[in-house]
Amino acid sequence: MPLLEERTLTLPDEAATARLGAALAGAVRVLPPQTVHVQLSGDLGAGKTTLSRAILRALGHPGKVRSPTYTLCEPYQVARADGSPLTVYHFDLYRFADPEEWADAGFRDCFAEPALNLVEWPEKAGRLLGEPDLHLLLQSDTGDADDAAERRTVTLRAYTQTGLTLLCAC
Ligand code: ADP
Ligand code: MG
Repeated sequence: MPLLEERTLTLPDEAATARLGAALAGAVRVLPPQTVHVQLSGDLGAGKTTLSRAILRALGHPGKVRSPTYTLCEPYQVARADGSPLTVYHFDLYRFADPEEWADAGFRDCFAEPALNLVEWPEKAGRLLGEPDLHLLLQSDTGDADDAAERRTVTLRAYTQTGLTLLCAC
């Protein structure tokens, strides 16, 4: 799948990450029902779960959003803008020792229904996961300025028209 567009944004603090999550959620909730595949890459602590949490909150999930580090997948039910149901699957594949675990876990089924699939550590599933609509790479700022602790950069890459719609909302 060709790369359609790439954009890099600076997130000066956690509030900016929350706003990015809200922008992505706003675009997702007006899409027609379909499988939306979003991958989140970056080192431990880069902010993948924080951004996923912001997306779920902005989609109206009222409760806790736990990191799926141990459960591998956490399902959520929220609503689209028109009130129809929207299923979200939040994955964290960090603990995969082998990409075959993706097939063994039966997670492919989650991509066969209309749902928003948020996948942390997509690299761990190798090529079995397939191309995303949108890929996000979160990176900590390596600068040593006082205000660098919260600063992140995020590189968004759209591979499909759906991904492009999401990217353009950010
Ligand atoms: P990951 O899922 O990538 O391992 P987490 O989201 O669990 O990372 O952790 C990110 C940590 O960094 C959290 O403790 C969060 O409060 C902190 N943080 C600081 N600034 C930011 C920011 N701009 N965006 C996201 N997280 C941030
Ligand atoms: Mg995480």
